[in-house]
Amino acid sequence: MIAPDVILPNATLGILGGGQLGRMFVVAARTMGYHVTVLDPDPHSPAAQLANRHICADYADQSALDKLAATCAAITTEFENVPATALEYLAKFLPVKPSGAVVAIIQDRIREKNFLQSNGFKTARFALIENPQQVATAVQHTGLPALLKLSRFGYDGKGQKMVHTLREAQQAYHDFGAQPAVLEELVAIKMEISIIIVRSADGSMAAYPPSENVHRNGILDIGIVPARISSVLAEVATQVARSIADMLQYCGVMAVEFFLTQAGELLVNEIAPRPHNSGHYTLDACTTSQFEQQVRSLCGLPLGEVAVCQPSVMVNILGDLWHEKNMPDWTKVLRHPHVKLHLYGKQEARAGRKMGHYTCVGENMKDVLTLALKIQNELGKH
Ligand code: AMP
Repeated sequence: MIAPDVILPNATLGILGGGQLGRMFVVAARTMGYHVTVLDPDPHSPAAQLANRHICADYADQSALDKLAATCAAITTEFENVPATALEYLAKFLPVKPSGAVVAIIQDRIREKNFLQSNGFKTARFALIENPQQVATAVQHTGLPALLKLSRFGYDGKGQKMVHTLREAQQAYHDFGAQPAVLEELVAIKMEISIIIVRSADGSMAAYPPSENVHRNGILDIGIVPARISSVLAEVATQVARSIADMLQYCGVMAVEFFLTQAGELLVNEIAPRPHNSGHYTLDACTTSQFEQQVRSLCGLPLGEVAVCQPSVMVNILGDLWHEKNMPDWTKVLRHPHVKLHLYGKQEARAGRKMGHYTCVGENMKDVLTLALKIQNELGKH
């Protein structure tokens, strides 16, 4: 049933953040007949290139927020580090999904860990550090080596440091500007997986099957779907993601990242309040992409089908592959009929910067994976 307050095509949707996730949201929304306004301070942001309108301003800029409120029917975000206060301000005037209150929890590692722990979700052992005196007790709690992670503004392994001694932990805390941080035990990881889940305001949910994620230098390198895990484990992970979404009263698309330990335990690593890199395969291997789901949940439409039509392997393309100003030879990707290339329109290639990805789909996972790795080798490894 379609609710009476549903937002239908021809309305304008606003998004805070203009990165590649925003760009893919813009494509999905415009394909469905919506108009999109992007708020992002970067004049060349990937999403703004394709949006109907770009408000080039800071996320906290009052007049920019007022413009969005006056011209949009609903607001979403593609970036967890937008000020939660901006989302809360916009929510006085129009629907905002996810809410500022939820984003405020997820964007702060300390609040996120406390939420997970107090609701009984298993995580890696951790300790909070809010002053220099707490470093030693934190080390005692987690053991060594351990990972020091800044509570705010970390992503793709940034704001993280592996420490092997108390001295290193103290030094790392100092080098990070003595900002609030979390010390986490180093987990013996067997596999990393993630679940993309979408939840509507009425509580209905749809969860994609787990993606098996291979990271390199703290950045996602390859996503394999379906993950090569048992159906029991996939069900457990899905139930955890559902419970998290329910407890947060979440609205929109969310990713839950997990560690599967060598001992067979499933630990929640972190939550992302937005579509996720490990869900890009949904663009090419599923009936409904994670970005269409973001539009659907934002507009109050029924959620789309999440079944995976074919096995897929997604490979990230980082700026490391650019030599001087020369792009990689894309014919190495484009010559394959079952491989889909996605480039994000970023002007400057930097080491570690996500410039694009490709997804291989096919009937047989072994063949798909072999082809994905062959292309990666031909393009040159990061
Ligand atoms: P994060 O930004 O916290 O997701 O960390 C980025 C990547 O670093 C993860 O995907 C893991 O590959 C690795 N990592 C993070 N935390 C831990 C941990 N406690 N133990 C082992 N590896 C970790």
